[in-house]
Amino acid sequence: MEISTTASTAAVSDDRLAEILANPGFGLHFTDHMFTVEWTPDAGWHGARIEPYGPLTLDPATAVLHYAQEIFEGMKAYRHEDGSIWSFRPEENAARMMRSSHRLALPVLEVDDFVQAVDALVVADQRWVPDSTEPGAGEKSLYLRPFMFASEAFLGVRPAQHVTFMVIASPAGAYFKGGIKPVTLWLTEEYTRAGRGGMGAAKTGGNYASSLVAQQEATANGCDQVVFLDAQEGRYVEELGGMNMYFVHDDGTIVTPEIGTILEGITRSSIIELAGKLGHQVVERKFSIDEWREGVTSGRITEVFACGTAAVVTPVGALKWDGGEVPAPASTDLTMRIRQALVDIQYGRAEDTFGWMHRII
Ligand SMILES: *Cc1c(COP(=O)(O)O)cnc(C)c1O
Repeated sequence: MEISTTASTAAVSDDRLAEILANPGFGLHFTDHMFTVEWTPDAGWHGARIEPYGPLTLDPATAVLHYAQEIFEGMKAYRHEDGSIWSFRPEENAARMMRSSHRLALPVLEVDDFVQAVDALVVADQRWVPDSTEPGAGEKSLYLRPFMFASEAFLGVRPAQHVTFMVIASPAGAYFKGGIKPVTLWLTEEYTRAGRGGMGAAKTGGNYASSLVAQQEATANGCDQVVFLDAQEGRYVEELGGMNMYFVHDDGTIVTPEIGTILEGITRSSIIELAGKLGHQVVERKFSIDEWREGVTSGRITEVFACGTAAVVTPVGALKWDGGEVPAPASTDLTMRIRQALVDIQYGRAEDTFGWMHRII
């Protein structure tokens, strides 16, 4: 893919950038540039470009605004101690976006083009990749958001004949300010996030839209996040709004809900491999809410954790629902060991024995 570049003339000043990178938050500040490529049935993908970051002008009839034909990815670029910049398994994000494309009847962007687009934006905005090696800097990174949407102005219901793929980037601070503490979860008994044959396995904005009211319920009940059960029987744990789950048992076995209606997290599959190397058997199967309740109460479940690109790994504390509660599991030891092992690979502090890291610069 040939990419043209227009440098930003209104780039953020070095002083302002230093201020932002000292305390980036999440999803608040955006880099100087953005990547765009467009698709039509006749021309395929064309017009790849890097331009100054800025608003889009959209016709009010743009299909995505009406029918939500949209998919996205979430990944990070990490600066290592020697100044080099890396991403984590970007081909996996590209492959997942191809699967999401298929589910939402969007065109497929090839893995190489996806990775090239992300790399090109990171190169253009490399000064925005925070340094995480200075003492107290925490786990900072440049969060990357590739996304694809129906950009045709047409109100008929059919797959769009004009599609846009973009990449934007935003510096991200440590997810947990002031140390990692377990998240409390709200079990929603009213809402589900995905049914059989639905979009649960696709990374699409619609899944997030449908999770928001349940998240609101969680917050109203004093919980940090919501956990969803399967839509068919309302018995099996699926995942959080944007994180996959693990249950550590007292014999060292780790159970994680099987693929199907859940989103196949790249952190999830990396942890399956990593835990295996640490000597733990990881089982992918249905895991019922009763097993959770009884397991924590009896001590058979020693740890529960959740994972995703943004938070990496977070211990799970108490689970609450209307009229009941399961207390926090006894330990967070293995959770924190797995977290550290993964973060050390991402930041280049541990040997990349799995070959997961991709050097950008
Ligand atoms: C993105 C996402 C995850 C986590 O996936 P990672 O690749 O690990 O970041 C989990 N659940 C949902 C619903 C997601 O959208």
